[in-house]
Amino acid sequence: KVRTRFAPSPTGFIHLGNIRSALYPWAFARSQGGTFILRIEDTDVERSSQAAVDVILEGMAWLGLDHDEGPFYQMQRMDRYREVVAQMKEKGLVYPCYMSVAELDALRERQMTNKEKPRYDGTWRPEPGKTLPPVPEGVQPVLRFKNPIGGVVAWDDKVKGRIEISNDELDDLVIARPDGTPTYNFCVVVDDIDMQITHVIRGDDHVNNTPRQINIFRALGVEPPVYAHLPTVLNEQGEKMSKRNGAKPVTQFRDEGFLADGVVNYLARLGWSHGDDEIFSREQFLQWFNLDHLGKSAAQFDEAKLRSVNAHHMKMTPDAALAPLVDAQLQKRGVTTDERLAALCGLLKDRCDTTVQLADWVQRFYAPVERNADEAAKHITDGVRPAISMLAKMLEGCPWTREAITEAIKETLRATGLKMPQLAMPVRVLVMGTAQTPSLDAVLALCHRETVLERLKAA
Ligand code: GLU
Repeated sequence: KVRTRFAPSPTGFIHLGNIRSALYPWAFARSQGGTFILRIEDTDVERSSQAAVDVILEGMAWLGLDHDEGPFYQMQRMDRYREVVAQMKEKGLVYPCYMSVAELDALRERQMTNKEKPRYDGTWRPEPGKTLPPVPEGVQPVLRFKNPIGGVVAWDDKVKGRIEISNDELDDLVIARPDGTPTYNFCVVVDDIDMQITHVIRGDDHVNNTPRQINIFRALGVEPPVYAHLPTVLNEQGEKMSKRNGAKPVTQFRDEGFLADGVVNYLARLGWSHGDDEIFSREQFLQWFNLDHLGKSAAQFDEAKLRSVNAHHMKMTPDAALAPLVDAQLQKRGVTTDERLAALCGLLKDRCDTTVQLADWVQRFYAPVERNADEAAKHITDGVRPAISMLAKMLEGCPWTREAITEAIKETLRATGLKMPQLAMPVRVLVMGTAQTPSLDAVLALCHRETVLERLKAA
């Protein structure tokens, strides 16, 4: 049974690059009938914040990346880590190291001058027949993991292919600090074991941790999971996407009117492919997703592309599903809607990238419009005013249906000898503020009669 996890550190507001590392393990679990687990890696107490946790939870809920287990918080699992540290001590898998910071610094310096890779030299590692230095007084040791000597650690990465690291390149990792607190790589392994993770899908900034983690797995007698290390997501400037260089929090895309399905579609393609398919539904994505078509090279975020993918999803989303999203936007602006809302979404969604744009349009039906002055000057001319007032007269008495409105427009054209655009353009500008609207009869039919008459009077 597949079990995957997303393990964010709440040290900043997660951005789209981060959330892609949630999307793939979620999709893999869902497509395999597996289990998706959320684990908050909050051990960096200084840099972690509740606000960042909230963005993770809100962002995932918004995008529909639901988890089956968790959220688990590492800070609440300290007792468990200490328990495993104790077990490892008992089994002789770790040893105390009393090397002071100053000694470590001196060692590193020596290694650097000799052009060696800086690494712990095993001074305190017990070996048969070896005499250890005298234990200094009053010093609390760190605990180091006895990394295997010789041989290689290897795994078949689902993205990067086979990776082999010589054990001689890995020094003995500190797994507990002098005060007993466990270290990052160790906690990850304990969690991945306890949570029975079968597939670790994460950013490739962790690829250097993997051989160390695999060695700890094996020391604990557990087969490590399958690993898939996702290439970095770059921002539009080609730098690694990060909060520090302006990546927006995930939830901001919701506030800007992006659809969850549009963002999921966009992120799905940012590092994974299914032939030439660019636009697909969530259901199709889950049907198609596998680990064999993950991209190998860095992907670059492109907001214009995201907008265009979102625009497709605006069209694909049923009017009744858009209505509450638009309603929420309008509520924020103090605009109250009514039963026409879904029909308005249907009329206008094709011309909008986001629900915010759609709300801008829909708002014209519920609140006063600001007329585009240039368009007004161009279209509302003295020659057309009599026709406008004739149309207004007819609209006053006719049944308020699209057919009757069409008839009234035609009648006015016949009587005045004007061409359709000569009448339709000024009416659009008067009623909607702009001449760039969908078909005039459809627009008028969805306006209230009083609103239309009121706005035509302005001519
Ligand atoms: N907490 C790590 C991060 O946010 C992820 C660790 C992992 O997936 O193993 O980068």
